[in-house]
Amino acid sequence: MNPLFYLSETFESIQGEGNYAGTYSFFVRFQHCNLRCSWCDSKFAWGENEQVTIVSATELKTTIKASKAPHVILTGGEPTLYQLDKLLVPNKQYHVETNGTILPTQALDIVLPDGHRIQREAMDERIIQHFNWVISPKLKNAQQQVDTTNLSYWATKSWGIFKFIIQQKEDISEVTEMIQKFNIDKKRVYIGLEGVTSESQLQPKLVDEIIANGFNYSPRLQVLLWGAKRMK
Ligand code: SF4
Repeated sequence: MNPLFYLSETFESIQGEGNYAGTYSFFVRFQHCNLRCSWCDSKFAWGENEQVTIVSATELKTTIKASKAPHVILTGGEPTLYQLDKLLVPNKQYHVETNGTILPTQALDIVLPDGHRIQREAMDERIIQHFNWVISPKLKNAQQQVDTTNLSYWATKSWGIFKFIIQQKEDISEVTEMIQKFNIDKKRVYIGLEGVTSESQLQPKLVDEIIANGFNYSPRLQVLLWGAKRMK
């Protein structure tokens, strides 16, 4: 199978979040997602639209190579809908931002909420274990039922960190319950604040609560610097 990739946008910026915040990065935002989070700030990456570009692995690798950025952020939408192990180019550090519901090492044949069908082969774990995986399980604040079963896979992998998005301090208890259930070390957990305004991000009391509970804080630097602007 010659995999195809549905792209929402590609751009250079800084990685704004997680354990590589601040690094010069090239972003590949894939179109389509299997979830529908209420506060999703990338709803333009849901479903079909006329802005989508469909490319082959070879074409996408050429685009990645053309950037001088040392980091490649595969995001979405949901990037694990695609054959990510076919996108390697030399001398780049890859990162994947996923909701953690889809196992990369299993073949996928899925019908998305909008009826779009996506199929891909299993990814090669010998390749994707060299990526920095950022697993972002959704809490109740995303207002949908999410099957978290596959977090048991990620909990056993040393090549991923976990990033949760909270709205209020009560959400931290839900994070604690989830990581206890899956035996995830707090040192691997980053918590960020939901919102696309500076005010939503500048909440020192909430950050105090995050570290008082033993977690790392994830900034959302792109929001602080550019607000809700796209391709940043
Ligand atoms: S998983 Fe991510 S891209 Fe998909 S709906 Fe939720 S926030 Fe949006």
